Amino acid sequence: MLRAVALRVTRPRVAVLSAVHGHPHADTDSIIGAVRTDLPEVSHQAVYDSLRVLTAAGLVRRIQPAGSVARYESRVGDRHHHIVCRSCGLIADVDHAAGDLACLTASGDSDFVIDEAEVIYWGSCAQCCTARTV
Ligand SMILES: [Zn+2]
Ligand SMILES: [Zn+2]
Repeated sequence: MLRAVALRVTRPRVAVLSAVHGHPHADTDSIIGAVRTDLPEVSHQAVYDSLRVLTAAGLVRRIQPAGSVARYESRVGDRHHHIVCRSCGLIADVDHAAGDLACLTASGDSDFVIDEAEVIYWGSCAQCCTARTV
């Protein structure tokens, strides 16, 4: 994947990419933890740099719901949305309700060409709903 976007293949980049694949929507600290199981000597800075490079290259998508730290995921390209639990912060993917392009059609006239719609739904995850009713 790194070679496909003309990035130099380094051990931190490979380890970060596989950590993001294995832990969708993980924050930087969790990614550092996961990378260190493979590569114990990796520095925080190397992980930050790798995340920045991978995000810029489009291999990793960065999301940041309000009030949350940045999260990273490897499911790129389909512009899916996210749902966030207000209680525990769990993040899940939400597919487009009405097709990939429907969200990119804003109603009303504007002179903008829209290429991304970032929608975040807020609510309670199943576990938090259960905890509340017990
Ligand atoms: Zn929850
Ligand atoms: Zn996602």
